[in-house]
Amino acid sequence: MSPTNVVILTGAGISAESGIPTFRGSDGLWEGHRVEDVASPEGFAANPTLVHQFYNLRRAALKAVEPNAAHQALARLQKTWGNRVTLVTQNVDDLHERAGSTEVLHMHGELLAALCAGCEHRFKSRTDLKQTMPCPACGAHGSLRPDIVWFGEMPYCMDDIHHALTQAKIFVSIGTSGNVYPAAGLVRMAALCGATTIEINLEPSVNTSEFDQRFIGPASVEVPRWVEQLVRGTADPLPQA
Ligand code: NAD
Repeated sequence: MSPTNVVILTGAGISAESGIPTFRGSDGLWEGHRVEDVASPEGFAANPTLVHQFYNLRRAALKAVEPNAAHQALARLQKTWGNRVTLVTQNVDDLHERAGSTEVLHMHGELLAALCAGCEHRFKSRTDLKQTMPCPACGAHGSLRPDIVWFGEMPYCMDDIHHALTQAKIFVSIGTSGNVYPAAGLVRMAALCGATTIEINLEPSVNTSEFDQRFIGPASVEVPRWVEQLVRGTADPLPQA
């Protein structure tokens, strides 16, 4: 198949087989913490030390994991079809980049970055964050936080994502439960823009009925298979009855 515009949305499920836990599978707990305690501005205000510790551990844990066949297949697709492919992720890990993807829209931020709540300077950072650290741009102390979009905050890159959807012929959502908005609303927007919509997931998401096609199974198996079919032109781009 000749290159066509594809928008890919990935969620925690694509990194599950690499060893990074999802959170919906564990009753709203993320690594043993209530999501609101570690992923909301209120949680950070109430206990910044706990929140820094939580993300410092998640950042350190990245060293022990590797991209899997699903990340690698998407990187191959990006290399083959270039800027016809827009890769959007809700994930805060760096497994897409480590698999070879160069352009990744991290709508929920990145573990390997920090943000100054004072001057809004964002910068790459691989080291542990502490409350006492000064911002490298404005010098303020106590204003650094993980560059993670928490519940109640506006995701990054929304203009770029919306623009890509207006051009998309195919929208595929991989390993996301469909609980977190606005990411969960992208399928509807893609359909309104005329794209064929596809879900790849271990189990149907809560908004599975909004997709034209679904492939149920582990991402490490289903994603390489879908990419292969797409590139060879054997994927059926039309909605299934
Ligand atoms: P989620 O935890 O709500 O849902 C995970 C989804 O992945 C489920 O639908 C599940 O069926 C599916 N899944 C699990 N294992 C799979 C596999 N092997 N193959 C295919 N699918 C599989 O995840 P979400 O919808 O992405 O929302 C979670 C939020 O939490 C995101 O905003 C994200 O920022 C954050 N988060 C990120 C990471 C990460 O960066 N890796 C990990 C946990 C949570």
